[in-house]
Amino acid sequence: MIAPGATIGILGGGQLGRMLALAAAELGFDTHIFTPEDDSAAARVAARATIAPYEDEAALAAFAAAVDVVTFEFENVPARTAQLLEAGRAPVRPNAAALALAQDRLVEKQIFRDLGVATAPFAAVDDDAGLAAALTTIGAPAILKTRRLGYDGKGQARIADPAAAGAAFALLGRAPAILEGVIDFEREISVIGARALDGGFAVYDVCENIHRGGILAITRVPAAISEESAARAIQTAKNLMDRLDYVGVLTVEFFVLAGGALIANEFAPRVHNSGHWTSDACVTSQFEQHIRAIAGWPLGDAARLADIEMINLIGADVEQWRAFAAERNAHVRLYGKREARAGRKMGHVTRLLRH
Ligand code: AMP
Repeated sequence: MIAPGATIGILGGGQLGRMLALAAAELGFDTHIFTPEDDSAAARVAARATIAPYEDEAALAAFAAAVDVVTFEFENVPARTAQLLEAGRAPVRPNAAALALAQDRLVEKQIFRDLGVATAPFAAVDDDAGLAAALTTIGAPAILKTRRLGYDGKGQARIADPAAAGAAFALLGRAPAILEGVIDFEREISVIGARALDGGFAVYDVCENIHRGGILAITRVPAAISEESAARAIQTAKNLMDRLDYVGVLTVEFFVLAGGALIANEFAPRVHNSGHWTSDACVTSQFEQHIRAIAGWPLGDAARLADIEMINLIGADVEQWRAFAAERNAHVRLYGKREARAGRKMGHVTRLLRH
């Protein structure tokens, strides 16, 4: 167990790291951010920062010596970085193996299948012959996704017509990919769970998510799904965390079909954008929950006290901050990013709907 006064090392300098650092501070911890990015959103609220490439082994060794536990705030930190740190003095939580699995869409899908959960039909695509074979089994329309390094709809191309498949593969740089069948879903949901060092489990109410252009736009809780679908989604998250011997917060995204059947899409080994509402509607936020878990503390209560919606401020949306700030019922959080580039997550707003 890690006591207040200790230092939590966080790989990654984005908004999730920023909110983790703020939650850690509330529990009496210092945080030390490791990121290649100068002037990052997370480093500006942390006690210390190392600005170095994830491959810089000397910087990693110094970081490992300066912290009491290591965690990460996004899954595209190279798995080797986490593996190197795991060989050092400070524990890495969640473990580096869980991070590595979450980095490959093909492996993720196979894990879901092993757990007995349905996924979209998929096939691996490594080259033109593989693409042709995948199109034969999956058909069109389909979505080609790079196996690695995709996020917020990046690294994806829709294929409406098989004749356009070659161009889609070229657009993705011909990187190893998977071809997925398009799911005609009724809604999208996510489950955010936490697993403690002693195997204890806590889970938030299921979230309903609306995406625009592959990026999360709005989350509403509760999700308009049956209790049975919610229970199955939660059980899947628990089974996955047990299987990975996971410590920390983990998110699983699903498509829900008309009739309530679930299709698992992907998991994220971290706190998640669809869980930002927990900061305002729950006894324990997802950020505090993650810090508690990786510090070896007992998990906090994940109970929800109000219905709520969360609206992402993406790119120029952030210019509306004045209007949201004037709304009595809205809570505005801005990530302090210097530049509002298109598609960039700049902040979010929560609104309590009934309480
Ligand atoms: P992902 O990066 O896999 O989470 O995909 C981003 C978004 O694209 C999802 O939240 C869905 O809205 C959409 N999407 C991804 N895969 C599929 C699929 N197989 N069928 C239908 N929509 C999808």
